[in-house]
Amino acid sequence: MGLRIYNSLSRELEEFTPLKDGHVSIYSCGPTVYDYIHIGNARTALVTDIIRRYFEYRGYNVKLVQNITDVDDKIIARANANGISPSQLAHANSQAYFDDTQRLGIQPADVHPRATEHIPEMIELIQTLIQKDAAYVVDGSVYYRVNAFKEYGKLSRRKPEDLLAGARVEVDERKEDPRDFDLWKAAKPGEPYWKSPWGNGRPGWHIECSSMAMKHLGETIDIHIGGEDLLFPHHENEIAQSELATGCTFARYWVHIAFLKIDGSRMGKSEKNFIFLRDALDKHPAEVIRHFLISAHYRHPLDYASDSLHTSESAIKRLTNCLQALKKIAETADSTQNQKSSDEDKCLMAAIQTMQTRFAEAMDTDFNTAQAMGTIFSLITQVNKSLMDPTEVSIKTLKKAYNVIRETSQILGIYSMDEKNVEDTFTYLKPLLELLLEIRQDARNKKDWDTSDRIRDRLKQINIEIQDSHDGSTWKLL
Ligand SMILES: [Zn+2]
Repeated sequence: MGLRIYNSLSRELEEFTPLKDGHVSIYSCGPTVYDYIHIGNARTALVTDIIRRYFEYRGYNVKLVQNITDVDDKIIARANANGISPSQLAHANSQAYFDDTQRLGIQPADVHPRATEHIPEMIELIQTLIQKDAAYVVDGSVYYRVNAFKEYGKLSRRKPEDLLAGARVEVDERKEDPRDFDLWKAAKPGEPYWKSPWGNGRPGWHIECSSMAMKHLGETIDIHIGGEDLLFPHHENEIAQSELATGCTFARYWVHIAFLKIDGSRMGKSEKNFIFLRDALDKHPAEVIRHFLISAHYRHPLDYASDSLHTSESAIKRLTNCLQALKKIAETADSTQNQKSSDEDKCLMAAIQTMQTRFAEAMDTDFNTAQAMGTIFSLITQVNKSLMDPTEVSIKTLKKAYNVIRETSQILGIYSMDEKNVEDTFTYLKPLLELLLEIRQDARNKKDWDTSDRIRDRLKQINIEIQDSHDGSTWKLL
């Protein structure tokens, strides 16, 4: 069975077939840069990153485009409040966005188009919509005529009457229909503007994404990703604009990522209920935050509680310790020895194979990262059991375990062999070894040479050497 994605458009799990063999085009709605991102925003960016890594792991050539909305009401309001220009604020916050996401281990997209650098493309798309009678001009502003697109509502499955009745639609006398939305906003005093055939103004938010997605990925893209709050009206409007202009399907698979909650309610800036990603990164390693953010499937809400990151911290320590122990053995052991095929060895090899199958099944079923991580940690339990007596398993099997755990953890980005992790393990190992040395010293004081030698020999098997001197005993990693 191949890779299946839950498509928000059909509301079904669908087999993924790319438009072009071996290639995947992905558009992900990026940040509106009026502030730093919080860890709820980071969930969308991280899931996008993992989807991309998994496609690459499966051998696809991926092109990922993620826009930067750098002109918007919120940017203008915040810049005015801070006494700087909207472009200064947008520039500083987009740099902060790249810094923060990079610290979280998110690889940059292939293209990060900025709205302000695509004004001519937006004007052109609006002109096409006007020519097709799907847009109209009033006092220098241009509106999309929702009635012109018969399939309007197909993504959100909202009927016109639902859209009108319950919706909090702003009363605007200039619109033919309250559902119509801005494509171009006539300039207001003191706001940034660009020249257009309809006078000075700036683009509406929805047209930005349609223009940039089509410019960089073509009229039809494979996968469109965004937070669940963008499904309506943003994505519904993107479909309406793009499909009416081109006559083609805009995005073949729609992926929506659920909110991160904090103590049961939505994490959001408007709710004043959030933690900036940079603050979380100052307190916890990136792998720990990544582990937490993907510990639930992306379509399920995830609740942030004060102890959430402690659980992830222990899990990452377990993973790092296991990989480092395996690495040490693989690097130092003589692989010509210990080739016998014991039951323990066969058992570990079978566990590795089961894990590989289950990891792929989990990721192939709509990128189920929670289940995929579960398979890694089950294998770690098995490996740790084997490491209690490493003479019973072959070096070949241990190396295989190392490679499989490392590769799958790297797809999820929860492991990177860097100095920080080595240091973490070292801090973890140190008190444990001190305790063992204390117990050994007690045994030596009682002339219990058997226990003393057993501790020394068993540590030697896992490449830790004890040296005795007049001043006491010390240990070192071999
Ligand atoms: Zn968008």
